[in-house]
Amino acid sequence: MRPIYDFMLIGGGILGLATALELQQRYPGRSIVLLEKEEGPARHQTGRNSGVIHAGVYYSPGSLKAQFCKAGNQATRAFCDQHQIPYDNCGKLLVATDATELARMQTLISRCAENKLEIEVLDQAQLQAREPGIRGVGAIFVPSTGIVDYARICRKMAELFIAAGGEIRYQMQVSSLETFHDRVTAYSQTDRVQASYLVACAGLQSDRMVSMLGNTPAFRIIPFRGEYFQLAAQHNQIVNHLIYPIPDPSLPFLGVHLTRMIDGSVTVGPNAVLAFKREGYQKTDFSLKETLAMLRFSGLRKLIARHLGASVNELRNSLSTRGYLARVQKYCPQLTQADLQPWPAGIRAQAVRPDGTLVDDFLFEKTSRALVVCNAPSPAATSAIPIAEYIVNQLDAMVSFPTADELANDREAASELDISVDLDPDAEPFGEPKQPA
Ligand SMILES: Cc1cc2nc3c(=O)[nH]c(=O)nc-3n(C[C@H](O)[C@H](O)[C@H](O)COP(=O)(O)OP(=O)(O)OC[C@H]3O[C@@H](n4cnc5c(N)ncnc54)[C@H](O)[C@@H]3O)c2cc1C
Repeated sequence: MRPIYDFMLIGGGILGLATALELQQRYPGRSIVLLEKEEGPARHQTGRNSGVIHAGVYYSPGSLKAQFCKAGNQATRAFCDQHQIPYDNCGKLLVATDATELARMQTLISRCAENKLEIEVLDQAQLQAREPGIRGVGAIFVPSTGIVDYARICRKMAELFIAAGGEIRYQMQVSSLETFHDRVTAYSQTDRVQASYLVACAGLQSDRMVSMLGNTPAFRIIPFRGEYFQLAAQHNQIVNHLIYPIPDPSLPFLGVHLTRMIDGSVTVGPNAVLAFKREGYQKTDFSLKETLAMLRFSGLRKLIARHLGASVNELRNSLSTRGYLARVQKYCPQLTQADLQPWPAGIRAQAVRPDGTLVDDFLFEKTSRALVVCNAPSPAATSAIPIAEYIVNQLDAMVSFPTADELANDREAASELDISVDLDPDAEPFGEPKQPA
């Protein structure tokens, strides 16, 4: 007889794992299983990012991003302190290189004030003193930005989850879902798992989760590849902080930055190039099926039309290291092409609406027995612990388990009436299950 778990999660990235731990704390004794298609945790966005513990500079005041990023900054450090995971409070500099960027910097300074972030505004001389290798006319110093290895956090979360009785099934790719009056069933090619409630944190596959649950997603995931380089080891001391450009407010991503990594190396990146395959990490990766599906989506066509210049630029700079380098040389002139060494790319899962606008904030969708994380781009790694708390708060309103007394009463009433109660969890109360696709 197959067990019916109390909770099932899909996705072994940082959101799935943080939510699994939060469920264990809030529902002690309940059975929880996490399904992950890869062989281990953090193989997609969470294990292929910049490793920055963001402070919350950019986000609209009152948004979930602003709220969770600030709380997540603290919570991530607290988790690392508790479990001896190294992190570095290196701080970040947002560097303006000309008058236009200096003007944009003022908007960010106001944004920091609205988000109640402690910052320091530096003039050219102060910037020079802090970062002799960086050229700019002014900067914002954000002391609460840090760096960490999110894959390492995930490995610890997985270990804690299993030690507390949780189960992780790796290499189980969910290909369809079915909701019954008392459970959700997840099917892979060869197996199925049932649970009373489901939380899907499937990153690049989030819109497919909504579809599998029988709903039409009001968005599509568009994959944007973020390509990085690593600086040659002699440049490991090139900067004391993380160095970010002042972002162009008309563009959705933060711009190519110099990031000190927790292992002591420095990376450059990421750019944001439209990918022709959701998990296509190489420039040459291409899926005709996925590309056609993306092009059929009006939201992508409108998005490209709106940002045509930037899209072409990103593609050109992806194909030419010289163009990519020019963006960094703007604030770090000493770097040359020979300093840029290959480094694995990441792919952002960005939800886009049919009108071509990007879903800016974190987005969630609920059904009677499931919650799907629909949009969780950066700073979702930083924000994972508060996001997990939020998800479980949302589930609280939905979850109701029969008490042991209620179950006993049901059995007693059934035996008095001399009817058999189907307690076989394999039974399908409403029709046949879908065959695994
Ligand atoms: C290039 C880049 C740089 C970034 N930099 C930062 C940063 O510095 N700081 C920060 O806070 N955030 C950053 N982010 C964002 C951050 O990495 C993500 O927001 C976060 O990792 C999302 O976590 P997740 O668990 O939702 O998704 P993921 O880590 O993508 O995990 C989803 C998991 O679901 C699994 N899955 C999907 N479909 C199925 C299925 N059908 N069956 C079973 N399993 C399935 C996948 O295999 C995967 O393991 C960056 C992202 C990128 C791409």
